[in-house]
Amino acid sequence: MSTVTTSITDTTQSIFLQQQPVKMLIGGQWVESASGKTFETLNPATGQVLANVAEGDAEDINRAVAAARKAFESGPWPKLTPSQRGRLLWKLSDLIEQNAEELALLETLDNGKPIKYSRAGDVPLTVDHFRYFAGWATKLEGETIPVSIPNMFTYTLREPVGVVGQIIPWNFPLQMAAWKLAPALACGNTVVLKPAEQTPLTALRLGQLICEAGFPEGVVNIVPGFGETAGAALASHPDVDKVAFTGSTEVGKKILQASVNNLKRVTLELGGKSPNIIFPDADLKYAVRGAMNAIFFNQGQVCTAGSRLFVHKAVYEQVVSGLADYAGKMKIGEGIDPATDLGPLVSQEQLERVLGYIDSGKREGATATTGGARAEDERLKGYFVQPTVFDNVRDEMTIAREEIFGPVVVALPFEDVEEVAARANKSIYGLSAGVWTSDVKKAHKMAAALKAGVVWVNTYNQFDAAAPFGGYKQSGYGREMGQAVLESYTQTKTVWINLR
Ligand code: NAD
Repeated sequence: MSTVTTSITDTTQSIFLQQQPVKMLIGGQWVESASGKTFETLNPATGQVLANVAEGDAEDINRAVAAARKAFESGPWPKLTPSQRGRLLWKLSDLIEQNAEELALLETLDNGKPIKYSRAGDVPLTVDHFRYFAGWATKLEGETIPVSIPNMFTYTLREPVGVVGQIIPWNFPLQMAAWKLAPALACGNTVVLKPAEQTPLTALRLGQLICEAGFPEGVVNIVPGFGETAGAALASHPDVDKVAFTGSTEVGKKILQASVNNLKRVTLELGGKSPNIIFPDADLKYAVRGAMNAIFFNQGQVCTAGSRLFVHKAVYEQVVSGLADYAGKMKIGEGIDPATDLGPLVSQEQLERVLGYIDSGKREGATATTGGARAEDERLKGYFVQPTVFDNVRDEMTIAREEIFGPVVVALPFEDVEEVAARANKSIYGLSAGVWTSDVKKAHKMAAALKAGVVWVNTYNQFDAAAPFGGYKQSGYGREMGQAVLESYTQTKTVWINLR
């Protein structure tokens, strides 16, 4: 049984949380919602209310889109030089760094994730992200085109797309905001960002830092609210030129349908059911630890979670018992305790969803070798689930096909390379995959064979602002990060000059 840790930090450390209701950012002003409505955001470790937040809906989205349009067409923003845009992004990254501890705390309180990861991962990666894209602001180039028509000088300009709607999920609230905002702004767009209703706080705190950095009013607007109201209004808005969405495949399809009225550009980062494959020639000590991180990091609420663990028959027992061993030693507790390895899931709804999958696994005949239930006692009041490893699983079972988005892994034995590649690829998803082997030929063969946007070999869940990220198949399309994302935040204009 996993050990339980208790809270050692008081939850009222953020000045930001003392100003309630937390308002939304529209046209450079912090305002209440047009309807006057607010919603509660909860601490998932305790179920207690953290803050009341202005609840945006279609009317607020209209105002935010109008502000973004004005800023794009006629504000100071389009007149800034690329280097001025880059400097604003760099200044923002400095401010995030200066406020790192508060942001880490807010992220942990609102999402539940262990503070050690907010401190070492979410916040520094957010800083890096803005710095990396600050550099791109001055490097967006068109081309001269060698056309075959005499006396024509032809070149391309790379221009921003315009007003961008960005809709993000709750699993990495601050990083998702950074992944969306940094490239959009580097390219000169203006933005309406809708954070997830479960975790609006760090995006709104980031909004304050954006104002402090000196971005002109209306360049970034942040409207918290629910998906069916604020999100849907943004996705279908006729004056939004592009929507960038990260979330479930189910909602991704709705976003695409909503884009049809004005044919807005759409990029989608969606769900996954990623295979993580361990060959017998792998360094098993690292592979087992890697498999553990692949599934239990962020309570398994990671789109790339290595949730289908394929293990070669020769080492299957060893790997599964090693993983169960790790799982049993994880410290479950409130995220604000620095000793916590596994925090709560984000919400009651997510708890029920994950427990529902665990039940379905048991009903279909799988065995939970460890975990397999809610983690609760008098100190764990929130939405905690035990890290769970399922054995005796068949590929057709629901738990082996559907995204669970919780700390639940299915272990599946295999015998050879072709077989495992085929089984790994038999999924509607294609976001990421892991391969563990010491044979370099096998590593390259598998990297080529796997139908996934990212393949990690002898590592897992590596992300860097410079490395493109995105899905194959129903995991979405378009790429985030790296040079690749600039494509979706710019459009090409071809100019012909007659020199005759
Ligand atoms: P979700 O799709 O329910 O919600 C994501 C966002 O969409 C939220 O802001 C929500 O308010 C909004 N939304 C919901 N319904 C909407 C609608 N009808 N119109 C417009 N917006 C709407 O997803 P979630 O449960 O918040 O997040 C988990 C999912 O996100 C998982 O499937 C996970 O794999 C995926 N995810 C993907 C990536 C990636 O990069 N591929 C990264 C993180 C999470």
